[in-house]
Amino acid sequence: MESALTARDRVGVQDFVLLENFTSEAAFIENLRKRFKENLIYTYIGSVLVSVNPYKELEIYSKQNMERYRGVSFYEVSPHLYAIADNSYRSLRMERKDQCILISGESGAGKTEATKKILQYYAVTCPASQQVETVKDRLLQSNPVLEAFGNAKTLRNDNSSRFGKYMDVQFDYRGAPVGGHILNYLLEKSRVVHQNHGERNFHIFYQLLEGGEEDLLRRLGLEKNPQQYHYLVKGHCARVSSINDKNDWKIVRRALSIISFNDNEDLLSIVASVLHLGNVQFAADEQGNAQVTTENQIKYLARLLAVEGSVLRDALIHKKIIAKGEELISPLNLEQAAYARDALAKAIYGRTFSWLVNKVNNTTVLGLLDIYGFEVFQHNSFEQFCINYCNEKLQQLFIELTLKSEQEEYESEGIAWEPVQYFNNKIICDLVEEKFKGIISILDEECLRPGDATDTTFLEKLEETVKNHPHFLTHKLADQKTRKSLGREEFRLLHYAGEVTYSVAGKCVHHLNSLSLLFPSFIPSTQFKNSLSKLMEILMSKEPSYIRCMKPNDAKQADRFDEVLIRHQVKYLGLMENLRVRRAGFAYRRKYEVFLQRYKSLCPETWPTWDGRPHDGVAVLVKHLGYKQEEYKMGRTKIFIRFPKTLFATEDALEV
Ligand code: ATP
Ligand code: MG
Repeated sequence: MESALTARDRVGVQDFVLLENFTSEAAFIENLRKRFKENLIYTYIGSVLVSVNPYKELEIYSKQNMERYRGVSFYEVSPHLYAIADNSYRSLRMERKDQCILISGESGAGKTEATKKILQYYAVTCPASQQVETVKDRLLQSNPVLEAFGNAKTLRNDNSSRFGKYMDVQFDYRGAPVGGHILNYLLEKSRVVHQNHGERNFHIFYQLLEGGEEDLLRRLGLEKNPQQYHYLVKGHCARVSSINDKNDWKIVRRALSIISFNDNEDLLSIVASVLHLGNVQFAADEQGNAQVTTENQIKYLARLLAVEGSVLRDALIHKKIIAKGEELISPLNLEQAAYARDALAKAIYGRTFSWLVNKVNNTTVLGLLDIYGFEVFQHNSFEQFCINYCNEKLQQLFIELTLKSEQEEYESEGIAWEPVQYFNNKIICDLVEEKFKGIISILDEECLRPGDATDTTFLEKLEETVKNHPHFLTHKLADQKTRKSLGREEFRLLHYAGEVTYSVAGKCVHHLNSLSLLFPSFIPSTQFKNSLSKLMEILMSKEPSYIRCMKPNDAKQADRFDEVLIRHQVKYLGLMENLRVRRAGFAYRRKYEVFLQRYKSLCPETWPTWDGRPHDGVAVLVKHLGYKQEEYKMGRTKIFIRFPKTLFATEDALEV
């Protein structure tokens, strides 16, 4: 038989806290690589699960395997999503504390797959009844619907979620799921009107055209061919070999009826109206003012959206400004009209999506959060800013809660607290969200100022308000050397995970006014901040578990471990920081009963049975094994071991 020592050499450690050299990033990555090679895609950092997308089907999600994890202690089985799922479920039932599972990682890392697998685990392992079956169905069926409306093909992922999703599952007193709730935020609305080369709009548009019955399409005034629609041709890839739109349409249709939508057709009318809106064209009159040239589209739109054609036409080519308490209506030029049209399309789609999520919702308490991780592109806009801010908040939450739970455990075990060195990212969160002087406040103020506000005034205002901040830089504020790397319409934030440069060009500033005709309360960044603080509040009230997803390569291929890409993600997910916080005190801790059971054979006094208190048995055992005083501490119910090597020596002794 392979000894524990050589097995460790081959497959690595299943918990990073057991790495001897825990501050070494190279050792961390080496451990990941070893495990990935053996198809061991899951590894812990304490109770955090790190996952690497295998890009192939592994036989670890069967019903039998689910059973293996049911009701079993976290450390007795190999790391798995199911262990996290089961552990949360058990804490929920036994301690009656609300739980949440936070899943993060970059696009294509496997977050949505993880969410689905956890839901399946609950669907299979939780007690059932007729009512519960309906709930399970609704939960599982809400997925295809939300994916149709919220996912799209991108360069990184053929089924990329373009929204953040927080899902609550409510259990009754017997532990059966009785309800669910989904909170969505940050839908990538810009995709409705524009897609980069090789990317698509949201799936639903193609599904409807490809799969929709003839009469339905006729009623909606649509043609089958996606090439007819401006909003669908930007990415030059309406058809994708890995996606079967026709089939998916059937699934979505069925799912919509299971989650009891009777007004299917209204929903589809709105989807169709977005496509028609994209085909609305303008021409300039002698004064250079935009006029609508595609009356046919206006006719369809008026019918589908149930509005007066003339009102809609006027709204598309005029803007309303409120200055000194007076309303001024003025015409738009061509460029402005096209912008207003696209803004309307995005707003309609965005609101439809929120409405859809509300429909899926029921009551709330085991939460699943699936959100995209840090995003850093060549060009980073307001969208990346929001996403990264969200991740900054999640990191803050992680630090607070991890330290808090460590502290609480030490306290309840009667062990003296040892201070932990870590980077507190509160300073960056404040920079973004503080009242009056945070970036979001300033952005909103500039957006709402009528008339003369521009991207540059926003940047100037920022520079004035947050100069000398160690995490903020602009062209003007930078020193000679750094200045070269910063444009005049950019600012740079030093996030906990690294630097990101954001462009302020085309910020919401001047255009919003034109939209206010149709959507009076359109204030995006504050709205986002508020929905985020609502989310944080929800998460703070729960006991969290974390899943950190990574992808092994950019080619969506199995068995390829790209070290550069992995290193990047280790950094942006803050995993080394996670590990440092986790390893600040003790690498390993176990209940006395569990520890004694495993190692009692190593000491004649505890073998084959120890009749006294487990605490005393362990004391005798470790004395016999020669543990030194600085290597461990005895708590009320657990032994705490400081270094992995102590544990490994004991573990290896079992093999001899
Ligand atoms: P995004 O942020 O773009 O939504 P994501 O993190 O949600 O990305 P997924 O859609 O979950 O990524 O995963 C991308 C693809 O990777 C899946 O479609 C699937 O092919 C593969 N994949 C992910 N996780 C697994 C897994 N555990 N086993 C097998 N394949 C997987
Ligand atoms: Mg996803």
